[in-house]
Amino acid sequence: MSSHDPLTAPIPGADSRLVGGVQLDIVRTGTGRIKRAIYPAGFRWSTHMKPITHTETCEHAHVGFLARGRIHVHFPDGCVQEYEAPAALAIEPGHDAWVMGDEPAVLIEVDFEGDTIARFGLPTAHRHD
Ligand SMILES: [Zn+2]
Repeated sequence: MSSHDPLTAPIPGADSRLVGGVQLDIVRTGTGRIKRAIYPAGFRWSTHMKPITHTETCEHAHVGFLARGRIHVHFPDGCVQEYEAPAALAIEPGHDAWVMGDEPAVLIEVDFEGDTIARFGLPTAHRHD
């Protein structure tokens, strides 16, 4: 992927960091954040992030636009969600997830840090009512 690819090129003014192999670029706006996450091929949350977060599952809600690639989301009750770009997504906290195929997944998210679930009116966990 060339550095001229706007989906992966550096974002001017962004707070840029690499966490568990995931390239994160975050720009604050108002009380929220625009966040681009580039998950490399082969990335799996439980393999690469769990040792960093020390939680059983990913406790983040993800709301955004999958602009490239494919991801597989797995919940502890056995439910599965798969997304292929282009796709809008909203994923409840409490999941494992991994990149499918051999290209990176580029996810553009909006979050409100600890307040994301309330702001979007999302369930606090994956469940069936
Ligand atoms: Zn379920």
